[in-house]
Amino acid sequence: MATAPAVSNEVEVKYTKCLIDGEWVDAVGGRTFETINPSTGDVIAHVSEGDEPDVDKAVKAARRAFEAGPWTRMTATQRGRLMFKLADLIEDNAEELARLETLDNGKTYQDSLKIDVPLTVACYRYYAGWADKIQGKTIPINGPYFCYTRHEPVGVCGQIIPWNFPMLMQSWKWGPALAAGNTVVLKPAEQTPLTALYISQLAMEAGYPPGVINVIPGMGPTAGGAIAKHMDIDKVAFTGSTDVGHLIMEAAGKSNLKRVSLELGGKSPNVVFADANLDEAVEGAFFALFFNQGQCCCAGSRLFVEEKIHDEFVGKLVEKARHRRVGDPFDSQTEQGPQVSREQFDRVMGYINSGKEQGAPMLCGGGRVGDRGFFIEPTVFDDVRDDMTIAQEEIFGPVMSVMKFQNTDEVIDRANRTAYGLAAAVWTKDIEKAMRIANGVRAGTVWVNCYDVFDAAAPFGGFKKSGIGRELSEYALEHYTEVKTVTVKL
Ligand code: ADP
Repeated sequence: MATAPAVSNEVEVKYTKCLIDGEWVDAVGGRTFETINPSTGDVIAHVSEGDEPDVDKAVKAARRAFEAGPWTRMTATQRGRLMFKLADLIEDNAEELARLETLDNGKTYQDSLKIDVPLTVACYRYYAGWADKIQGKTIPINGPYFCYTRHEPVGVCGQIIPWNFPMLMQSWKWGPALAAGNTVVLKPAEQTPLTALYISQLAMEAGYPPGVINVIPGMGPTAGGAIAKHMDIDKVAFTGSTDVGHLIMEAAGKSNLKRVSLELGGKSPNVVFADANLDEAVEGAFFALFFNQGQCCCAGSRLFVEEKIHDEFVGKLVEKARHRRVGDPFDSQTEQGPQVSREQFDRVMGYINSGKEQGAPMLCGGGRVGDRGFFIEPTVFDDVRDDMTIAQEEIFGPVMSVMKFQNTDEVIDRANRTAYGLAAAVWTKDIEKAMRIANGVRAGTVWVNCYDVFDAAAPFGGFKKSGIGRELSEYALEHYTEVKTVTVKL
């Protein structure tokens, strides 16, 4: 296990309360919860535990800000400028934010600093640019009329985010919502509330008026549930598990038919043909699964390898897995940190046991690393059958399932045999095979000879049980605007 931190993990936790109407306040019920350092299992801080009354206060503030006050009088250009300012402040505080993210989530400091922070900044800048470009159409209807559409903000948006990319998921939610002129009530994941709170303070420093952004840390069923069923929230956006996605949609349906967008689980097929550049495909397949401790909704968790190259390919993968440096995420040599929580650690270990029990050969890994914190060895299962639990359910950990295939039709058919449809990838030099996979796989994103290429300008979201709607890009703005048709008699 790597030790000796090269980067200090000293970071002061400054913000631990609810942010409502521009003020840091304790939860109404006075409760707090512990946020845990997954590298050690120690408590980092006690954070206010919001619940229904806190969500209600936040919604009232968000409603007031939406209907009256400086936010409503601001021009679209001014809204854009505020967001550019927020992006600059995040950049100015990049190292502190990266330390906080690594402390709370366990991802390596190098990833926090070089991936999460820059993507977050880029997302805010992208949507800052959109603020004054959200526009309707003029429509040539029959008769003596002038008809046009306005793209107006939806209103108060409830946003519930997960723990795997805390600050990035916040930007995916706030970017389009605030650019379009909505107000927000955000609930960060209970495992990783700290960067959301820090960035909220930066947003206030940037000049967002009170009530425009509100943040309620708390548990899913209580604070999250209160958002999903609130009668005065116009739209809910959720990223997390498919099971909770069902609950959110149900609550929205039973309350006020609030608009719903969901980004849920995945079991993404990653298809490697024998003609691929082998070394690039090995690198890509490895990254596709092991990046972020395997905690990605789009992880390439079903690796289909063409039979002809299977043995050589798997040999190289296992070699890489055995040499992966797992340990202190603040050590610059570390490639893999801990899983985010004890609960996730136990879940992933449960899936490893299930793979063994169902008879998949485990080529490496399978155990815990060290005796404190939630570290798991990079694990590779071979000859996984499509019907095994590890080939069907989202593991969300460093556990790879390799399957063999023989031809394109077969692999498309098998790739589509899950309830999910978030992402897919194909590795080949043959454009025809690449296009057949790209067209045949039912998934919201297909990467060809690459994986996990994200850009704020490219939409992301799922087919089937992987979700509803698209995040990022111009498409996300559709979820944060209502179209109003105005017809004027001439
Ligand atoms: P995971 O199982 O990976 O932790 P979840 O879907 O449970 O994923 O969590 C994602 C986010 O959804 C978190 O912010 C969590 O608090 C929230 N959440 C969990 N359960 C509910 C619920 N019943 N209603 C609303 N939000 C929830």
